[in-house]
Amino acid sequence: MTDKLSKTYNPQEHEERIYQWCEEQGYFRPEKQVELGLVAEDGPRWCITMPPPNVTGALHLGHAMVAALEDLMTRYYRMRGFETLFLPGSDHAGIATQNVVERELAKEGVTRHDLGREKFIAKVWEWKDVYHRRITDQTKRLGVSCDWMRERFTLDEGLSHAVRSAFTRLYKKGLIYRGTYLVNWCPRCESAISDLEVIPDERASHLWHIRYPIINDDWNEPQEEWGSGKWASGATEFIEMATTRPETILGDTAVAVNPGDPRWQRLVGQIAILPALNRHIPIIADEAVDPEFGSGAVKVTPAHDPNDNEIGLRHGLEAPNIMTDTAQMNKLAGPYAGQDRFECRENIVADFEKEGLLVKIESYVHAVGTCERCHTDIEPRISTQWFVNAKPLAEAAMEAVRDGSTTIIPEREERRFFHWMENIRPWCISRQLWWGHRIPVWYCDDCGEQTCEIDDPAACTHCGSANIHQDEDVLDTWFSSGLWPFSTLGWPDTESPDYKRFYPTDVRETAYEILFFWVAREMMLGIELTGQTPYATVYLHGLVRNEEGKKVSKSMEDIEEYDPLNIIEKYGSDALRYTQLTSSTPGLDMSLDPRRLEGARNFTNKIWQAARFVLSNLGDGPATLSPASRLLLPDRWILSRLNSLIQSVERLFESYQYGEAGRQIHDFLWGEYCDWYIEASKVRLYDETAEKSVLRAVLLHVLETSLRLLHPFMPFVTEAIWQALPDEVRKGESLMMAQWPEPDAALLDGAAFAKAEEQMGLMMELVRGIRNRRAEYNVTPGKRITALIAAGDESGWLDEQRAVLCSLAKLDSKQLTIQPAIQPPDQAAVIVVGEAVCYLPLAALVDLDAERERLSKVLDEIKGRVARSEGLLAGEFAQKAPEHVVQRERDKLAGLQAERAKLVERLAALEQSDTA
Ligand SMILES: [Zn+2]
Ligand SMILES: [Zn+2]
Repeated sequence: MTDKLSKTYNPQEHEERIYQWCEEQGYFRPEKQVELGLVAEDGPRWCITMPPPNVTGALHLGHAMVAALEDLMTRYYRMRGFETLFLPGSDHAGIATQNVVERELAKEGVTRHDLGREKFIAKVWEWKDVYHRRITDQTKRLGVSCDWMRERFTLDEGLSHAVRSAFTRLYKKGLIYRGTYLVNWCPRCESAISDLEVIPDERASHLWHIRYPIINDDWNEPQEEWGSGKWASGATEFIEMATTRPETILGDTAVAVNPGDPRWQRLVGQIAILPALNRHIPIIADEAVDPEFGSGAVKVTPAHDPNDNEIGLRHGLEAPNIMTDTAQMNKLAGPYAGQDRFECRENIVADFEKEGLLVKIESYVHAVGTCERCHTDIEPRISTQWFVNAKPLAEAAMEAVRDGSTTIIPEREERRFFHWMENIRPWCISRQLWWGHRIPVWYCDDCGEQTCEIDDPAACTHCGSANIHQDEDVLDTWFSSGLWPFSTLGWPDTESPDYKRFYPTDVRETAYEILFFWVAREMMLGIELTGQTPYATVYLHGLVRNEEGKKVSKSMEDIEEYDPLNIIEKYGSDALRYTQLTSSTPGLDMSLDPRRLEGARNFTNKIWQAARFVLSNLGDGPATLSPASRLLLPDRWILSRLNSLIQSVERLFESYQYGEAGRQIHDFLWGEYCDWYIEASKVRLYDETAEKSVLRAVLLHVLETSLRLLHPFMPFVTEAIWQALPDEVRKGESLMMAQWPEPDAALLDGAAFAKAEEQMGLMMELVRGIRNRRAEYNVTPGKRITALIAAGDESGWLDEQRAVLCSLAKLDSKQLTIQPAIQPPDQAAVIVVGEAVCYLPLAALVDLDAERERLSKVLDEIKGRVARSEGLLAGEFAQKAPEHVVQRERDKLAGLQAERAKLVERLAALEQSDTA
């Protein structure tokens, strides 16, 4: 039997083999469950759609975390008899993928513009195939039991159709519109990006205090050229303000002050002259100006700052855009046209100084918005884009959370969700990229109207002209990801079997950092387009950090250590999954400590060895349990513990406390089954006269049931062992298709089991006490010792367990007395557990003289160390050394003193026994 299990567990021998076999068997497909008769066709079903990784991405610990949690849920529901679908896929990831391919092309000195749109996109598809294979293979290594035959890609035909349908519907309802607004512009990517893709970067920079001359009776315009040093000569009045971006001066169309600011009141309504460009700009009053900032006056640049943009709209100001797509100054920037924005900044500051308009430069730390993808400084900029009017969609999404249609876990994230949704702004969905879903809107060259259709139109729907051209932009990647829970199931065909069977899905499980990027949008689009919230539960996990609490990111020096593929190579996929699952709490960041990985790998090997032991000692004969089986105390105890574990795991799973469930299964298997039950069972196994069939049955029953409980955490090692078990204890061909354990009511007589736990508990306490004493007295491990136990009412059953007691505590069976009452021997170590008192006569434990001598020696040494430490603390050291060093010494001394007291006590006990 044992030849089925090799000497040690090597994950490499099993993981890929088992994964492949399961996939070939069709076990990951919901149809297979029906075919095997495990679920009724109209029975309960459970569905989760995997967050699609970026197709160009490489696997990281974040993916591993998602996979571990989602696969755990999937395997659990599958075992519970739900028709289960875990649907995988990947995301075309617009900007990210385009950037990667552009970088590859740059190595050959080619730009996307050299290739042109069509050829470039064809190139990206080529790369996509390479990357796609890589990310899929990597994802499989994590052991995810998803149905690869249903795999989707956000740019595949079906999903493209879904995207067009969604866009067209929202467009026709007026929820998607085109408008000119201020957007976040990345000059490197040459595209608008959403607020969420802007990453603030704290930076030490400057605040430039500058001043503009004001027209009055003495001066009404510059007489000299800008740069002559005399541009403002003659001006007698100025208005002063501060800016962090002097280059934007060229786009100013007003100066604003707070209407309640007495310093500037008399200037409101006056005209200032904009330096360099000689533009006349009004001084206006607006409540939005903070009188506390700088001088209380601010420059207004409506085309390049969101707040200024709003002021501009309120006051009807012009909004000149002074930069090109790549953030060069354009012709509206006058003398600075053609310069890069940062070059312009330096030059314009120098010119201000020359003209006497630079008041001072202050150091200033502030956050600069940068592009999430390429880290270039974002340029807020007026531009024509497509937007989703998110406000009404957000209302519906909030309502779904309020009325409980969707629950967000943990609750803290629900509050964050509401805060975000209440303050939602229009969502800019157009991107100036080539890789993505092209916006399905055509402009008519004759009548100028727009045509929006699912299928490419041949003519303008307004005037019938064939002179139409499609919008150049593509959609934000998150627009297609926002349709993921239903586009992958066949929507907009609401009659498709998968949509009917599996929508709405059950859970959206993802990292809390993309709650707004993704979850909020899935909910908004899902409710609007399907009339139903896309899932019942949103479960958010935290970020993965290293053992020092740092977020694991590509820029880390030892990032190799945190590469999931390296971890799997070294510890196995089971160990990685188990570690991630048991180190996490919903919504809290998890830290991945290599020591825990090692612990998890040791755990796989521990179960393996336990299984080997059980299988090699099975012998022949029936191994099934029945209510008629004659169970001994350890049997009743372990079955009772197993029942409690099943109940507890069930309760924890229902409340999403997977980590705690995993820890409890571990503690049961290692700490109770292996350390106590198997150890106790050896007495019977090795006793040739003992009846073994019940023991075998219990050993197997507990092992098999625990494997089922552990399976969602560690699918491979559990499957490998399970398949080696005798046929009669396992039902079916595969553990992953076996039934989730339930407490065994037939075997469960509540009172008898409670009694068993109590009695076994007492026996275990006794054994622990005896083991501690043996360690204290340095008794050689194999030495059998004498014990006298006064057990009162417990002595009857305890005496029946004497063989087990002797085996576990290494007692001499001929020298073990168990009686209700005993005359206490004088020279003995005493262990008290409840009513029971156990005496270990010292003479039988140790050679008293030798022990006395040994303890005296140790005591002398400790006394010396105490004296040294006391001396140190009494001297200069206590005054001069740093407080924490002194404290450390004090703690050390306290420890030594405690040790001294114990030794003195033990020596006194030895003296006593001598004189007695
Ligand atoms: Zn960028
Ligand atoms: Zn037309």
